[in-house]
Amino acid sequence: MKVLKFGGTSLGTAESIHEIKSIILSNPGKQVIVLSAIGKTTNELQKIAELSREGDTQYILLYEQLYEKHMKLCNELKISSYQEDVEAVFRQLRRILDGVFLLKELTPKSLDFILSTGELISSKIIASFIHGEGKAIHQIDAREVIKTADTFGGAPVNFELTNRLLREVLVDSKNQISILAGFIASTESGETTTLGRGGSDYTAAIVAAALNAETLEIWTDVDGLMTADPRIVRHARVIDSISYEEAIELSHFGAKVLYPPSLKPCFEEGIPIRIKNTFNRSSAGTLVTSGNGGDQLVRGITSLLNVSLITLSGTGLLSIPKFTKDFFAVLAQYHLGVEFITQSNAEHTLTIALTSDQAEVAHRVLNEAFDSYIKDEFIDPIEIERGLSTLALVGNNMKNQVGVSGKMFNVLGRNGVSIKAISQGSSERNISAIIKREDLNKSLNILHEAFFQYETKRINLFIIGVGNVGRAFISQLQSQFDTLKEEHRVSLKLTGIANSKKMVFDEQGISLSLWKERLMEGEAFDRELFRQKAVALNLRNSIFLDITASKSISDEYMEFFKKSISVITPNKIAATESFSNYQLLKQTARRFGSQFLIETNVCAGLPVLSTLSDLIRSGDHVHHIEAVLSGTLNFLFNEYDGKRKFVDVIKQAKAEGYTEPDPRLDLSCEDVKRKLLILIRESGYSFEMDEIDHKSFMPSACDQTSSVEEFYQIVENEEAHFKKLYDEVAAKGKRLKVVATYQDGKASVALKEIASDHPFFHLEGKDNIVLFYTDRYKEQPLVIKGAGAGAEVTASGIFADVLRLSLPET
Ligand code: ADP
Ligand code: ASP
Ligand code: MG
Repeated sequence: MKVLKFGGTSLGTAESIHEIKSIILSNPGKQVIVLSAIGKTTNELQKIAELSREGDTQYILLYEQLYEKHMKLCNELKISSYQEDVEAVFRQLRRILDGVFLLKELTPKSLDFILSTGELISSKIIASFIHGEGKAIHQIDAREVIKTADTFGGAPVNFELTNRLLREVLVDSKNQISILAGFIASTESGETTTLGRGGSDYTAAIVAAALNAETLEIWTDVDGLMTADPRIVRHARVIDSISYEEAIELSHFGAKVLYPPSLKPCFEEGIPIRIKNTFNRSSAGTLVTSGNGGDQLVRGITSLLNVSLITLSGTGLLSIPKFTKDFFAVLAQYHLGVEFITQSNAEHTLTIALTSDQAEVAHRVLNEAFDSYIKDEFIDPIEIERGLSTLALVGNNMKNQVGVSGKMFNVLGRNGVSIKAISQGSSERNISAIIKREDLNKSLNILHEAFFQYETKRINLFIIGVGNVGRAFISQLQSQFDTLKEEHRVSLKLTGIANSKKMVFDEQGISLSLWKERLMEGEAFDRELFRQKAVALNLRNSIFLDITASKSISDEYMEFFKKSISVITPNKIAATESFSNYQLLKQTARRFGSQFLIETNVCAGLPVLSTLSDLIRSGDHVHHIEAVLSGTLNFLFNEYDGKRKFVDVIKQAKAEGYTEPDPRLDLSCEDVKRKLLILIRESGYSFEMDEIDHKSFMPSACDQTSSVEEFYQIVENEEAHFKKLYDEVAAKGKRLKVVATYQDGKASVALKEIASDHPFFHLEGKDNIVLFYTDRYKEQPLVIKGAGAGAEVTASGIFADVLRLSLPET
């Protein structure tokens, strides 16, 4: 058995009712049909009821229009039977409206009765129409089966009784088609109640759950549950499948297509819900089921147009915890539904959002309830802020993912939308924000664009240098290429590539698996020509990657920047020339809208500079840096044990790809000094290389060597020097580490003896560690530690910089 619900949007005209008939008749099995009022009848009834309460005789005119509209529909549908019933309902409605007019009083009970007529009439019309097609119809009076408490204007359902009655009436029914009105119900003593606006969905779900239906179909005027309200976001898309939990969140935060309570009965019984379009039957619609529903991060964006914030504040909030309890008790007493809660203990505030109408009530009743505390100045008068909207991102998978809220606030911030309050549901399935109402349309559209609409963005990479690191980068790129394209819509193309001998360009992108062959067939390398060609291609989103350690290549950066091409490099030379040159590079990059990303200049792939940049940009100040910055040197002093020759350990480090191409740069501490200098500069200080205090631990014979071979020879000859260094500290139970320090404007690099209680003592292998002491990290420094050398980790740091420039709003 199936339950089909047709909403008012599907019942507006004779043609749409013909559609409904054909949907019902094409369905072979047993079915229960739940119907809403026709078109916007419920809204019209509400208006008429209010006019009569106000003593405005216009109610008669509107009543007559409503009557005429229904009669016209009956005529168009050629309904003859039941016409008398319909007339009778209208006559009764008129009597009640006249009563309201005379008394100028509209109780929730009479309003429920008035509103219920919409569904009473529509269900009779449709039943009669389908009956006219020769089908036996079982007409059920919803008020005899759906039973509620006597809370008028949205009554809680008595499920025990309702389920029993529904089963009694429907399980053994011989009829193929049963029809009942949605939205309406009655108390045990038979007084008419309603289930809340939009409640026909709920009726249908209650019936489906009670009868254990195979499925519930919600027929409406859109193709399904969409990624955003299609009336606001033109590009909203249908969600193919979604979990109950996500659908609950989406509808709760405003997706009108489903009335939130209606999901629960089906969820509990595991009955799948399909939302379909009456006017586009071939479209599959949205399936709501258990399970995750798909692997997208954000499933939908939803909004409530009119909300207000209510704030309870004052120091009394902390000393008397009962306030919070009483606060919610008052809200419950008046049936006020809270959409959103945030609390700040530090500021002694509790803020909630309610729909605007409810907020007005809440504001009044809370001020009354807390009157004496307000007078005694325990708490401040309850405040209300009007003219707001909520928006919420919903998705099961957001739970395990960092950065979604960051992206959300980033996108809103960049578009000048300020956020009044933020809340993340404890299920982590939604992140919601309160914004000004006038910002809602813009916000929904930009968020939808950021989370759903991005087209594939092509990034053009121009690489010089395909040694260990360059090769590792390309192979990482190759393994991530598809994921980046599918999940992030970023296509990273290798558009130009060169080594010291050859270079090749291809606007279509060089194959990531055949780049070596292509390069071999390329033209002779010329660095200026390489740049000119990259510039001449004039492609959007171009990035130059210098994966060499060469000064002549780094001299090209300025020209790339001037053509708005960003530069990413592990090459430290450019950033460690004079401070004025460093500044000029950064300024030029900024002026031309390009970027200079050098994460891998310090500690390979560890996120040292990006972390530092976040600190500085957020207003922190670095006072003191203490670091082991050379993976190579740390490796050498960890491995060297006085037995194996020092030179052999150096050769091993080189073979394993930890050292600079020229290991003398590591051993002379030149490399550490450069890294320290970059840390100091990126911390915001003007500093030069020669201001770093350093005394080499190498024998002086190593100072002037003309080749790496000669250098190795001398280190071998000087083995005794290294053994002595080692033996002395080993005897004291200490270890040797080259430590870089910056404090109070002074910087030094020195080989130090590290005792076993020092945090650097256990720094193993080729690891690096950086300790930042800042305004915010005063006593306990911010520590970054991990592998600080090696082709793979360096390549992944370059990759991270590439993604920083490529991914939208990360
Ligand atoms: P019915 O009368 O069929 O119950 P409703 O008007 O209650 O229809 O709900 C359908 C409407 O909900 C659609 O016409 C659409 O404009 C609106 N809507 C708002 N948000 C969404 C959303 N996320 N997905 C689909 N429809 C939505
Ligand atoms: N007719 C009622 C309303 O408009 C119930 C419904 O359509 O779901 O609120
Ligand atoms: Mg509806």
